[in-house]
Amino acid sequence: MVGYVVEKEVVLDVALRLKRLLEREGIEVRLTRDKDAHLSPDKREDLSRRAAMADSSRVNLFISIHVNATPTHTAQGVEAYYFGRAQDPRVVAQVIRENGGGELGRRLTEEAKSVAERILTDIVAQANQRYSQRLAETLGRKLSQATGSPYRGSFPGDFFVLRYAKVPAVLVEIGFGDHPSEGRRLADPAYRERVAQGLAEGILAFLAQGAFAR
Ligand SMILES: [Zn+2]
Repeated sequence: MVGYVVEKEVVLDVALRLKRLLEREGIEVRLTRDKDAHLSPDKREDLSRRAAMADSSRVNLFISIHVNATPTHTAQGVEAYYFGRAQDPRVVAQVIRENGGGELGRRLTEEAKSVAERILTDIVAQANQRYSQRLAETLGRKLSQATGSPYRGSFPGDFFVLRYAKVPAVLVEIGFGDHPSEGRRLADPAYRERVAQGLAEGILAFLAQGAFAR
């Protein structure tokens, strides 16, 4: 439970809505899960199997959808992340949380960090990072426009699930489930449809730029 909603329920619902919208545009969509189940009961294995889907030659984009939370329960807005070294402490805390939290989260963040450090010497990874950053920026802005939720920005982070992505890959926080009004909105199916529409528009806008020849 993240405040007013259960994260895995909201993000699965949004993912299914997004899939329908994109398929209508002729885009093939594969979900890392299409029912309410983990790919593996082990968090590391679960994240690794999801990550493997971003490392497939048949995939052009990889998007991981999440619901945000903050200790003060007062923040609202959307954020987008791409793989890279987290710079400010707030982002580091967010990364650890999304990497499983606690001791496990810290361990997986260390592993991802060592991969992120290698980007500095890898021009192919650098190019993919730029496209991922652009995708994050486009998704964040379109999502904010579609929902009216403030855009808080796009940031680099050492996310385990993104670390080996060979294609533009982002992690999107669609809103704060623990904010008194945003949390309640996220519980509303009509609002989730707008979230999915914003994400679909962002994906279509990014693909229309056509600038990420591989
Ligand atoms: Zn999450």
